[in-house]
Amino acid sequence: MRIDLHTHSTASDGTCTPGELVRAAADAGLDVVAITDHDTTAGWAAAEAALPAGLTLVRGAELSCRWYAVDPPIALHLLAYLFDPSDAALAAELLRVRQAREHRAERMVDLLRADGIDVTWDEVRGYAAGGTVGRPHLAHALIARGLVGTVSEAFAPDWLGQRYRLPKADIDAFRAVDLVRGAGGVPVFAHPRASVRGRIVPDSLIVELAGAGLAGLEADHEDHTPEQRAHVRALAAELGLLVTGSSDFHGSNKTVTLGAQTTAPEAYHQIVAQARGLAPVAP
Ligand code: AMP
Ligand code: FE
Ligand code: FE
Ligand code: ZN
Repeated sequence: MRIDLHTHSTASDGTCTPGELVRAAADAGLDVVAITDHDTTAGWAAAEAALPAGLTLVRGAELSCRWYAVDPPIALHLLAYLFDPSDAALAAELLRVRQAREHRAERMVDLLRADGIDVTWDEVRGYAAGGTVGRPHLAHALIARGLVGTVSEAFAPDWLGQRYRLPKADIDAFRAVDLVRGAGGVPVFAHPRASVRGRIVPDSLIVELAGAGLAGLEADHEDHTPEQRAHVRALAAELGLLVTGSSDFHGSNKTVTLGAQTTAPEAYHQIVAQARGLAPVAP
């Protein structure tokens, strides 16, 4: 069984529509794929409608979170699987985060314009095409101006990586775990040791999150070195957490391919067994 539990579509910052994503997942030889767009469930219905025979769909999301107990707070991503999308508390929080992302992107456009870079909010919003807006959409405006060559280059410190970056109004990490469990979902910490992305949280926070209901840790991810993967596995074993591996596919916004990293069937079955919100969909 080939299982990839972390992918993005045009409902956030991927470049495949949800339908294209599930067809590409089948073409890549996957048996199970999770759609985990940032802070939204908007791609679920189209993914389900287009699901090819032989492919199982796990409905999920990747929540923008932050550990606020340190100064400055540290951002982290929480994958949430098989939660009830009609849960009012979780749905309200996701809506709040998406709206704050729009406001933030608009202010980042203002910062660029103040430096004479003639991008517009309308244009950036157009790249997001109604999905959750993020820095990759701003990157496309910079590419269109010939200021950078790729989305990745736009994440350099001189651009969206630091100079024109503003913080998001992220969900408190403990509240996020609570909300996901409250909605019957299964929370897994995405790329917890990916120091290439910025500051990472200490193991002591992961211990606390495990005590608060965290289900698992993503170990195999392209942003983890072999040493970081081994560390995550050892920590998960110590804490009794399940371990996943996934591509974090973003279409052509990143170079990683579907199924580049996979999750063991035992871990997938544990996620399904813990879920109280939804079951996987198989056509
Ligand atoms: P945001 O959520 O708006 O802060 O943007 C962060 C998103 O940008 C992440 O979810 C990644 O998908 C994407 N991203 C971060 N770093 C890179 C990079 N070096 N190249 C391409 N995409 C990136
Ligand atoms: Fe992303
Ligand atoms: Fe992430
Ligand atoms: Zn992701």
